[in-house]
Amino acid sequence: MSIVKLAAPLAGWCLPLAEVPDPVFAGAMAGDGVAIDPVEGVLHAPCDGEIVPMRDARHAVTVRSEAGIEVLMHVGIETVGLKGQGFELLVSAGERVRQGAPLLRFDLDRLARAAPSLVTPIVLASGGTVLSRATQRALAVGDFLMEVDGGEAQAVAASAAPQEHARRFRVPFDHGLHVRPAALVAAALRPFKSQVVIVARGRSASARSTVAMMSLGVHCGETIEVRCTGADAAQALSALEPLLAPDLPAVVQQEVRKPVAATLADARRLEGLIASRGVAVGVALAWKQAEIEIVEQGAGAASESAALRNALAFLASHLGGLAANATGASGELLRAHAELVQDPELERAALEAVARGKSASYGWREATRGMAESLAVLDDERMRERAADLRDLEEQVLRVLRGEVPAAERELPENAVVLAEDLMPSQLLSLDARRLAGVVLARGGATSHVALLAASHGIPLLVSVGPAVLEVAEGTPVVLDAEHGWIDVDPPAAELAAAQRAALQRAAERAADLEAALQPCATRDGVRITVNANLGSEEEAHAALRQGAEGCGLLRTEFLFLDRRDPPTEAEQAAEYGRIAAALQGRPLTIRTMDIGGDKPIAYLPLPREDNPALGMRGVRASLWRPELLRAQLGAILRVQPHSQCRILLPMVNDLEDLRVVRAIAAECAREQGRAALPPLGVMVETPAAAMMADQLAREADFLSIGTNDLSQYTLAIDRGHADLGEKLDALHPAVLRLIRKVAEAGGAAAKSVSVCGAMGSDVDALPILVGLGVHEISATASTIPRLKRTVRLLDAGECRELAQRALDAESAAAVRELAGVARARARAAASS
Ligand code: PEP
Ligand code: MG
Repeated sequence: MSIVKLAAPLAGWCLPLAEVPDPVFAGAMAGDGVAIDPVEGVLHAPCDGEIVPMRDARHAVTVRSEAGIEVLMHVGIETVGLKGQGFELLVSAGERVRQGAPLLRFDLDRLARAAPSLVTPIVLASGGTVLSRATQRALAVGDFLMEVDGGEAQAVAASAAPQEHARRFRVPFDHGLHVRPAALVAAALRPFKSQVVIVARGRSASARSTVAMMSLGVHCGETIEVRCTGADAAQALSALEPLLAPDLPAVVQQEVRKPVAATLADARRLEGLIASRGVAVGVALAWKQAEIEIVEQGAGAASESAALRNALAFLASHLGGLAANATGASGELLRAHAELVQDPELERAALEAVARGKSASYGWREATRGMAESLAVLDDERMRERAADLRDLEEQVLRVLRGEVPAAERELPENAVVLAEDLMPSQLLSLDARRLAGVVLARGGATSHVALLAASHGIPLLVSVGPAVLEVAEGTPVVLDAEHGWIDVDPPAAELAAAQRAALQRAAERAADLEAALQPCATRDGVRITVNANLGSEEEAHAALRQGAEGCGLLRTEFLFLDRRDPPTEAEQAAEYGRIAAALQGRPLTIRTMDIGGDKPIAYLPLPREDNPALGMRGVRASLWRPELLRAQLGAILRVQPHSQCRILLPMVNDLEDLRVVRAIAAECAREQGRAALPPLGVMVETPAAAMMADQLAREADFLSIGTNDLSQYTLAIDRGHADLGEKLDALHPAVLRLIRKVAEAGGAAAKSVSVCGAMGSDVDALPILVGLGVHEISATASTIPRLKRTVRLLDAGECRELAQRALDAESAAAVRELAGVARARARAAASS
């Protein structure tokens, strides 16, 4: 038995192979080993040995130890496409090296920009057994990495039997027989015992060794011969055919023929937006639904209107019943639908059509579509979501009118990954949760109700994947990776197995994050960061506590009272706020006064039409325009017990004037209630004006909360609902960061807390920069809290300050995102050193 100890060839964070963001390495198809997320750009020899030739490869080096163990080190993921740019090989093939000798220099920052990941797999390319290995800790060059028994590699070769099969293939891979395809070949052979050799240009190499195959330097289109010798030679050869044969099915061809760097965009891998995180391995279930056919002409106004009223009443009570038994986001949605289906305006419009001789179905469709269309064009994402709700209700009522159950039901196979053009909330809720592994939508948005429901049920969901996903045949194996944003269709078995392992590992990681989330968090150098939740209901408050929220940094009260026809009374509001305060069990509750206005057509607050509602009567301006509504709200907040639990937050403040007026009204409300003191009164900083005036605001406000969604929209002059400019609307733009710094400094100077409550607060990449800018409190989407807290614990506030300075000096949001990516890898590596 030949035992070899391998030393870390790189400084960085050591992680298990299963965490490598490439299924070939994660599934150990290129060999068993570990990976290192590097913090320095020099690769060293892990043992004494000889450099194995690897044609044209400057991004990877293999060292063969004296005992014959081949250690392949592949710097970064998908780096073959860089064609050596950013790499400097310091050794040549055949050269003998001592452990620790520098082998390859690479430009860390350049690679971070060009490659999807810097994570470097270090694997045993010619077999061998890992006896022990380092993992999940920071390593310096030369630290213990793995102990390896090289005996097994020889054992495989020794088991050859006398049958021989051979076949010639033309190499279909764009980069030739390089690491990834070679690893797929080696992995495909793993179940077989036969000896398999690839012959090219008069030289031969073991097809079980990724490195040996690479050393042949075979290019795309060259002919190779595969020779299999052994008892299962025929089976081994046919296992290679799907990879190497020229008449492959189209899907497989695209997978193997694309350059490695292009695999993210190929037809087998379909990319989309992550709407609910998670990984699922399962089978495709195509969800196709034709529009329900209806007749236009009715059978008489009396019977049609009776049928419609009955259907509406039935559905309202059906939904109400479901809501009573549901919790969380599902319960809320069902309640909202039950309310919406009783909307008198909808019923009136439908009955009007019936009175014109139309059928009940026709009238209902006309009414819901008319209202949906007027909502669908609004600026506000959440208003557009109501349009989706209306389409959902349209179908449910039509089905009831046909005598069917309201939501279409489908039998699901085990681990079903539902592929659909779009899915309605009721359809998602009707799916058997025990069998549903994930959902992929050709269309849809990441903030839709379906997305919220999926997130609250822990169902991985990818949206906006495009029509190609609808062509996937039912029953096809798929890997849905809603952590990285893609779905792999019909991947090789080894990749499926690797994805299954990765899914289990992520689930374990999430469980660990969740457990730790209940504790407060601080950076490694002791800076305490408060992580609150953004809430819109009592249900969310319960869920947020389970995710580790330390309180509520933003209660969006406008959504508590959205589905009403008249303004909520002071008593109703006080009761609702009181329930949320109780749900938070004494933790702080920041109640934002209603942020309604031009683009949010709230029935009980009819506003004049505005050409540019985003710049019009919104937030505190709308509240001051209808001060009786503001009074009722302030009065309600003042009634919440215990008094010390609440803070009041004002949206869309530009300067001190708004704050002073509202403070005076609040003081009057307090006097009426016989209260002496007001709760803390804070302002949202979400306009460039407020950011520029932050020093003045900080002196008078009790706290500041930065609304980065609106601050980005107004700073960058990009509508936050714009369909095409969405990518450019990035809160990490240096212009936005400079304003945030101003606010954080103003808060610091006045000793007032500064929180970030826009979506930026839920972004783990933004977190180090925010901490570096001096933000020590965030309010985030509840489901992101466990991960945010883990990230905080890995940070060093001093390094965050340096990072923030570089981000402020950067030229674009993209440049800041690159800095953030490198910083995250460094923080992880430094964490336990
Ligand atoms: C913001 O603008 O960042 C914010 C938190 O407010 P809203 O998203 O509700 O406008
Ligand atoms: Mg806002």
